[in-house]
Amino acid sequence: MASIEFVRVSKSFDKNEVISDLNLKIEDGKFTVLVGPSGCGKTTLLRMIAGIDPQTSGSVLIDGKDVTRIPPGRRGVAMVFQNYAIYPTMSVRENIEFGLKNNKVPKAERKELVESIAETVGLSDYLDRKPSTLSGGQRQRVALARAMVKKPSVFLMDEPLSNLDAKLRVQMRIELIELHKKLGTTFVYVTHDQVEAMSMADTIVLMNKGVIQQEASPETMYREPVNRFVAEFIGVPPMNIGKLPDGGDVSFGFRPESAVLSAEPLGLHYSERGTVATREMLGSETVYQIRCGDQAFMVKSAEDRFKVDQEVYMGVAADKLCFFDADGKRIRG
Ligand code: ATP
Repeated sequence: MASIEFVRVSKSFDKNEVISDLNLKIEDGKFTVLVGPSGCGKTTLLRMIAGIDPQTSGSVLIDGKDVTRIPPGRRGVAMVFQNYAIYPTMSVRENIEFGLKNNKVPKAERKELVESIAETVGLSDYLDRKPSTLSGGQRQRVALARAMVKKPSVFLMDEPLSNLDAKLRVQMRIELIELHKKLGTTFVYVTHDQVEAMSMADTIVLMNKGVIQQEASPETMYREPVNRFVAEFIGVPPMNIGKLPDGGDVSFGFRPESAVLSAEPLGLHYSERGTVATREMLGSETVYQIRCGDQAFMVKSAEDRFKVDQEVYMGVAADKLCFFDADGKRIRG
């Protein structure tokens, strides 16, 4: 196991600085998810940890040691990519075994290790198959097994589930959480999908344009976003943001499930009359878009009785509201 630390790290490509003066400590043994919009620098951070593409300045520490001069193969990290990087002509066994053979591990030991790892990732019955005969999820497991065989102290994963269909992705998320528990190794996982981040992470590091916006547990990130960017990135649908009539540059926010809809006026702190603009029935809940003057808010409700174009009252309790200043920083609530 190993902790990872970025100390005043900057990274430029030609003259374009994509990460500037970044500080971050990734805890030992934790499942940390780096999340943020496309191009915010997530993969760049991962590649710096791996040593594939070193920082321009500053230090990267693994287990307290500066690894700047240590080549990728000697950092004790293994990387799993979205395109699997498995050899199509080799069997599953040969794929997993490949690194061990290169390291001259004796045959009997190789066999035992490959079989035990195959069992951990649920591939025991597929060892003699070629990757082309496997499903996407099984191929992803081969890639994981190939990484595990190196017994790394850090697993780096770059959008490893993005090539899988929605159902399999959900299943693989659970498998990765279980694998992390079983191995107890530091996982650093990159995704642009906040649902993945929320469902898997011990700690989420949310980035925008090369800058860390917030580093927190999924619960804290959801309930106490430090700024509008975080509030609007996390949650499906994300937090509603509105303007107060006399609030100047201050804006307010509330989560879609925090609002109440009623055909009658509501005695809640924030209350407005509006019209149902859209309605999406999702089974256990219905998502409405409520238009109030020139603003529109998403509301998640257990009730499905409101119809499109119907007039409704929307209310939000005082303790469910939060406020942001002109720069988007949360000021209270
Ligand atoms: P995505 O979710 O789309 O993969 P990301 O958050 O992982 O995005 P990075 O791949 O880290 O983003 O890229 C961060 C920024 O650095 C982007 O603006 C990108 O264009 C730039 N960049 C990355 N690699 C290079 C490179 N080899 N040469 C030049 N610019 C690069």
